[in-house]
Amino acid sequence: MAEIIDGKKVSEHIRAEIAQGVEKLKGETDITPGLAAVLVGEDPASEIYVRNKRKACANAGMYSEEHKLPAKTTEQELLNLVDRLNNDPNIHGILVQLPLPDHIDETKVLRAVSPLKDVDGFHPYNVGLLVEGNPRFISCTPHGIIKMLEFYNIDITGKEAVIVGRSNIVGKPVSMLLLHRHATVTIGHSRTKPLDEVTKRADILVAAIGRANFITGDMVKEGAVVIDVGINRNEEGKLTGDVDFEAVSKKASYITPVPGGVGPMTISMLLWNTLESAKASSK
Ligand code: NDP
Repeated sequence: MAEIIDGKKVSEHIRAEIAQGVEKLKGETDITPGLAAVLVGEDPASEIYVRNKRKACANAGMYSEEHKLPAKTTEQELLNLVDRLNNDPNIHGILVQLPLPDHIDETKVLRAVSPLKDVDGFHPYNVGLLVEGNPRFISCTPHGIIKMLEFYNIDITGKEAVIVGRSNIVGKPVSMLLLHRHATVTIGHSRTKPLDEVTKRADILVAAIGRANFITGDMVKEGAVVIDVGINRNEEGKLTGDVDFEAVSKKASYITPVPGGVGPMTISMLLWNTLESAKASSK
């Protein structure tokens, strides 16, 4: 039976470390790390995410503000707000909650965020630094995954890592982080054939697909470390991951649950990046 990787527990440690860092920075400078969250439209899930992020900021002693714009906001209005936040000395991190309404060009908006305040790590400049191996802001979910592996002393060097999913926010950056930590990395996606032969090679398997219970027991090698990034809701509204936890936990050596695995880590790493940004602004 697999050991559970407890994202809440790891998060508590990291958030305590962040709160100490915030205290120290406030003591040494007059800087309070500040995060601005920008939300366009009325997506209930996004509203919950933003509320949780702001609550976490407050608990860590950080400043946060929310800019809630109506769904009909024009692209230019949003770009103007981003520009204002880029130039606001009280703000060290800018988070544009996705998805944006269809009439707004997401790429254009994300590129307008200053790379120095891009605490989500989505700006191509920061993506480039990550690929180069000198990251400034590592996107939060992939960073959280690495922190969990480190916390549980899971060896990455020389291991076969398979990531299923090739998105810019999870699959691609996590593959880079594992590669830089000397794993042999394979990325699977919807055209990978046959996918189960690839996943069965994995010592470390990361599922970032967005399909409930997609990774079944027969797709996993005995003793694998399984990281479930997926957040799916079933008909009753219950959260489930991309991994069939019941079956896979019988074969894996370690596994992350959903909820309580990767999710809490994502917010922790957002705070981490905001603190790092505030520290950099004091130099
Ligand atoms: P995307 O939809 O951007 O990417 C999904 C990936 O899964 C794509 O690369 C796609 O392949 C691949 N995929 C889809 N169907 C299959 C299939 N049948 N076989 C193999 N591969 C497949 O999703 P995200 O990366 O944004 O998110 C993935 C999941 O993680 C979601 O459930 C999301 O909610 C969750 N998430 C959780 C976070 C957290 O904090 N815990 C943070 C971010 C995301 P292709 O490219 O070929 O289409």
